Amino acid sequence: MDFVERLSDEIRSREGELVALCQALIRIPTLNPPGENYREICEVLKARLSARQMDCQLIRAEGAPGDSDTYPRWNLIARRDGTYGPCVHFNSHIDVVEVGQDWTVPPFEGVLRDGRIYGRGACDMKGGLAASIIAVEAFLDLCPDFAGAVEISATADEETGGYGGVAYLAERGFFSPDRVDHVIIPEPLNKDRICLGHRGVWWAEVETHGSIGHGSMPFLGDCAVRHMGAVITEMEEALFPALSARRTTMPVVPEGARASTLNINSIHGGQAELPADFTGFPAPVVPDSCRMIIDRRFLIEEDLDDVKAEFRALLDRVGEARPRFRYDLRDMHEVQPTMTDRSAPVVRAVTAAVERTLGQTPDYVVSPGTYDQKHIDRIGRLQNCIAYGPGILDLAHQPDEWVGVDDMVVSAIVMGQALATLLDTTRGET
Ligand SMILES: [Zn+2]
Repeated sequence: MDFVERLSDEIRSREGELVALCQALIRIPTLNPPGENYREICEVLKARLSARQMDCQLIRAEGAPGDSDTYPRWNLIARRDGTYGPCVHFNSHIDVVEVGQDWTVPPFEGVLRDGRIYGRGACDMKGGLAASIIAVEAFLDLCPDFAGAVEISATADEETGGYGGVAYLAERGFFSPDRVDHVIIPEPLNKDRICLGHRGVWWAEVETHGSIGHGSMPFLGDCAVRHMGAVITEMEEALFPALSARRTTMPVVPEGARASTLNINSIHGGQAELPADFTGFPAPVVPDSCRMIIDRRFLIEEDLDDVKAEFRALLDRVGEARPRFRYDLRDMHEVQPTMTDRSAPVVRAVTAAVERTLGQTPDYVVSPGTYDQKHIDRIGRLQNCIAYGPGILDLAHQPDEWVGVDDMVVSAIVMGQALATLLDTTRGET
């Protein structure tokens, strides 16, 4: 029996342990926002991984958005070095989103029923974290003298942008190419799919200006909301058709996200909303300001400067037709698109492992939205990163979220095999 086969059998024999670990993680409610129990979950993982001779660092993202003494942003990085060779890193976020309504099972008990573990975070992504830990532990137990290094990180705040998690660590060199060579993020992409990257993001706030006046004599003021209406009309007539005609070669799923998109996140003009329990009337005032937040998702074929220039040109066109039109355009947030090459060693290793384990070639996909790969790519400057893990993506953030035990076992085997390939390959090369 070759090593990969022995490793696969070993991981399969640890199914009970995998289930118990996943349940234990679900039972620590790491709701974000506000960011609860990060320290507790990191301590549990630290105790476990230290027992495997992994060096564990607990790192608080002090000063990161959301970090406070009440809600500290704790992260864990565990590393074990073998002899000289590449480092394979498994990164999972530990936070989960709010519970919401319509659950039929308790969300933080890790109920096991008919081969599924239920709970908030079961699918996104404590199932993936547990699977990667079992894969690494089995590998280390069978092959204590390996070439290279293995790391597992458990990081905060992915659901709110990752600034108190992967971004913070990347800024401190934890994802730089001189420390890490290959990254696998076990997000719930389904056990037969490899996610290569994501589209780009540009968030901006547009504000149109007017001048205040009495609502009975609007001609003495200048209505900022009407100016914004003209902006939206121009978007409907020119921008949206242009965006949906622009197609990418990136294999984005779902299919509809293979075009450029723009969402209007919010719009606000005039007086603030009155509280629901207030029984009076608003005052008759011409609004002198209207603000709109846009979320533009762009393709790898597009340039961010062009994306911004296109929107500014639209605003300028509106201004040509409306003499009093004045606007501000403020950048809020931007992320470059990223897509790891299919020939990258981490992609080839996981592909081979999926083929061997499932008897089929994986689908290569790109995510419509971003995840922590953005920080690894932009701050860490590390290109060899993919998302691969158990769980059905559509179940993420839903009521009665669950992860299949079989899926966890299969993806743990795939991760274990990929680990063996990536470390062994280079041992052969050096
Ligand atoms: Zn996730």
